[in-house]
Amino acid sequence: MVSVAIDGPAGAGKSTLARRLAAEMGYIYVDTGAMYRAIGLYALRAGKDPKDNAAVDALLPQIELRLASIAGEQHIYLKDEDVSAAIRTEAAGMAASAVGANPAVRAFLLDLQRSMAKKQDVLMDGRDIGTVVLPDADVKIFLYADVEVRAKRRELELQQRGTPKPYAEVLREMEERDYNDTHRAAAPLRAADDAIMVDTSSMDFNASLELLLDVIRGSVSN
Ligand code: C5P
Repeated sequence: MVSVAIDGPAGAGKSTLARRLAAEMGYIYVDTGAMYRAIGLYALRAGKDPKDNAAVDALLPQIELRLASIAGEQHIYLKDEDVSAAIRTEAAGMAASAVGANPAVRAFLLDLQRSMAKKQDVLMDGRDIGTVVLPDADVKIFLYADVEVRAKRRELELQQRGTPKPYAEVLREMEERDYNDTHRAAAPLRAADDAIMVDTSSMDFNASLELLLDVIRGSVSN
């Protein structure tokens, strides 16, 4: 089985690029951020504070999380409900960042993520894929960009989705999420020692895609 790990901070272009790269390579795309978002959403809906580890731990046994690929798109379910759209709000993103600091949540998702990579060729994106989830991945990429560039991209994305937000607020939330993700004790965001570092600050989507395809093809054919 081939496995490709892509890690990096929010807004570096990971999921858009990862989805296309997986399609080009014929691998299954696994968006691990969606799993943390689904758990964050579950906690919010249950009226719990996602930062309250004990409260979230108590919810875990009831959570039935499932992923399915429909027409090449990953869909995520909480029991029978497709929450793929519901997890995309900024509130769910912040809740994901909070539950991501909870070691029991990380352990809960680790098994699921590893078992997916055992069954099929995968391209998995997240924060700790190259360091913790798939330390033996065939290719590890760490994708990043300056925080101002990432906040600009997110601002544009929110505008296009019809849910605009002022740039200053987007930047502040992005900085907060970066801080939480890099400073938590459990599997903090960092590049694996053997990751290929790619800075997309001054690259557009197509340039990033071409570069990453070259990197992946070069590594898996070796
Ligand atoms: O990638 P995305 O922005 O959807 O991820 C949401 C949040 O989930 C991140 O800010 C991070 O805190 C958490 N996460 C994580 N580990 C992963 C993927 C996401 O902690 N592998």
